[in-house]
Amino acid sequence: MREVDLMVHGADWLITLDEKRQIYRDGALAVQGDTIVEVGKTDALMSKYRARRELQAGDAVVVPGLIDGHLHSSFQMSRGLADEVGSQQFLFERMYPYEAALSAEDSYLSSLLCTVNCIRHGVTCFIDPGNYHPQETVKAVAESGIRAIVAKSSMDLAKSAFGTLPSRFQETTDSALASGLQVIEDFHHTHNGRIRASLSFRGVNNCSDELIQRMSHQADEAGILVQAHACFAKETRDASLRQHNLPEIERLHAIGALGPHVLLAHCGWLSPKELVLLGEFDVKVVACASSSLHNAYGNIQMGAIPELLERGVKVSIGSDHACSGIVDLMTEMFVLSTAYKEVRLDPTVLHPETVLEMATRNAASCGLWDTEIGSLEAGKKADVAIYDTNTPDWLPLYNPISNLVYSAPGSSARTVIVDGAVVMKEGRIQTVDEEALYKEVRNRQEHILKITGLADSIQTSWPIE
Ligand SMILES: [Zn+2]
Repeated sequence: MREVDLMVHGADWLITLDEKRQIYRDGALAVQGDTIVEVGKTDALMSKYRARRELQAGDAVVVPGLIDGHLHSSFQMSRGLADEVGSQQFLFERMYPYEAALSAEDSYLSSLLCTVNCIRHGVTCFIDPGNYHPQETVKAVAESGIRAIVAKSSMDLAKSAFGTLPSRFQETTDSALASGLQVIEDFHHTHNGRIRASLSFRGVNNCSDELIQRMSHQADEAGILVQAHACFAKETRDASLRQHNLPEIERLHAIGALGPHVLLAHCGWLSPKELVLLGEFDVKVVACASSSLHNAYGNIQMGAIPELLERGVKVSIGSDHACSGIVDLMTEMFVLSTAYKEVRLDPTVLHPETVLEMATRNAASCGLWDTEIGSLEAGKKADVAIYDTNTPDWLPLYNPISNLVYSAPGSSARTVIVDGAVVMKEGRIQTVDEEALYKEVRNRQEHILKITGLADSIQTSWPIE
């Protein structure tokens, strides 16, 4: 008998997402340190390993920890502050002023709340497109035990056809690049490799050709990820056409910035030529359905996610931010899949198996992290989500993939393991004092409204006594 640190066993359903997409009934997995040693049937593994710690999964569906491909940790304190606005108002009148006003302490609180939100929904890793206090995101991620890709947000065009940045965001090309690279130097591959860093030319319309080219080149050379928002609304496309005579992806192509190390959020307004370019250059894409639905960006109506997938483009799913409502990747899977079915009048588009791959394997590829995460198999990091199926949302349970995508909320996560460590056990987060966190969030609400100047954006006209 070989000794291992941890064994999860007796799982009613264990869905590996490995190369063969193997599913085990009465499944088990053995973990040594931060790494999965073996996955298989409970009987087989129990006869081979003696575990120092055992978790009986029982009536549960066990999957690789979900990976949120696009989540702004700094926006977690902005829930309800950007309703009923289109893309320009959303960014330039609400979210940029909000973010520009945040102190390091506010950003830390927002990030910590974000990590707890993730863990509670079975999300073990998220890709943050960047903010202005990335060291605070790192601090929260490190404490919570989750895995993440962090970045420092960089934009060097104060004024574009899309809008004018708050003064807090305005930087020269050199300082935008240097501060982005500093985050790579300080945090890439830290905390036992749980934290990685990327570059981020955050909004393509507010970035110069030079910044985009230098960032893309540096990321390519260093083998790291570079992120940006692109084609997320008619307004971003039109601004790019006015300013550069090219839509956003065609512009990135013209300046030599596309490649397999580039992760673009949204891509909801693509020209036929841009669709082809994304496939040709193996660009990674993350679809953010709920933020599009909330702000009427048109990413579903105009979107081409099924066509991108057909071309072999690695597309993941992002919940984007709390100011568009849900931060629940399980519900996000439902939203993406069903919204496409509706607008295409086609119930077969975006099959639940495809959608679950997007939230696991594809997302790992989008983060350039697929050698370590995204599936449950020997040699991969032990990032595991265990969902309790003794709930009305999960029963009856004929097909776990169907229930994962169409019926179960992320909040049915019962136990969550990241990097071999149990960060939530039987519904209790082990790493963060949740009671103290929620109290602090409530206490900080007034302060957030005051510093951001967004008190008037709260929309109810009903009398409050
Ligand atoms: Zn975003």
